[in-house]
Amino acid sequence: MIVSAVATVGIQCSKCGELQFRTLSAFAFSHFNQESYSCVCGAPLLTITSIERSNFSIEYPCIYCGESHYLLTKRNHIWGEDILELVCNDKDLPIGYIGHHHEVANSCQEIKKNFVKLASQLVNDGENESEFDNFFIVYAIMEKISKMVERGQLECRCGNKNLSVEILSDKIELVCQACYAVGTIYTDNKEILRIIDSMGSIFLEDNMTWYPKDPLKGQNLVKNK
Ligand SMILES: [Zn+2]
Ligand SMILES: [Zn+2]
Ligand SMILES: [Zn+2]
Repeated sequence: MIVSAVATVGIQCSKCGELQFRTLSAFAFSHFNQESYSCVCGAPLLTITSIERSNFSIEYPCIYCGESHYLLTKRNHIWGEDILELVCNDKDLPIGYIGHHHEVANSCQEIKKNFVKLASQLVNDGENESEFDNFFIVYAIMEKISKMVERGQLECRCGNKNLSVEILSDKIELVCQACYAVGTIYTDNKEILRIIDSMGSIFLEDNMTWYPKDPLKGQNLVKNK
């Protein structure tokens, strides 16, 4: 039996949504017991740890639920004949594959399709063949917003914690039905995700608009009147 010492990993980045491909060499583990891979955006993609001679644990942050998932597997499942699926246990969806390059590349196209389908269900204007990036941003913002709601980090200055969320084609609107304050988050630029992460909590004020401005200068939150 010929066992390939090189496998390809294809995984969707949990931060920027892009599919990333890396080569995993079995020999990398002959000296060190851990290998980590990062996305071009800087976010961690995958960490593989050799725990015994033939056992490995794989940790990968997940775009769907925002958590890290762990998989315990054997050497011959990583560098073997069959494709290994990296899934989100929470949403029961694949987010990556490890195996032969061609199979991984093909299967990853399905990841992208699934993701666009799921994200487009959130956009209610039916424009589901538009840009991948926009869907990703909408999806990621909705995840972040729902996490903030769970943690009590999203409310209106008037005291109302039940804000309604409306997804429009280029923006998400947060509306307070008690005082009619409206917050607008533009979804046409990925930078907004970093801005929302850096905010921690959102207090809605009337006519509030978030959009990324000149990200190179590191300027972030803009309130518009
Ligand atoms: Zn990335
Ligand atoms: Zn997950
Ligand atoms: Zn209010």
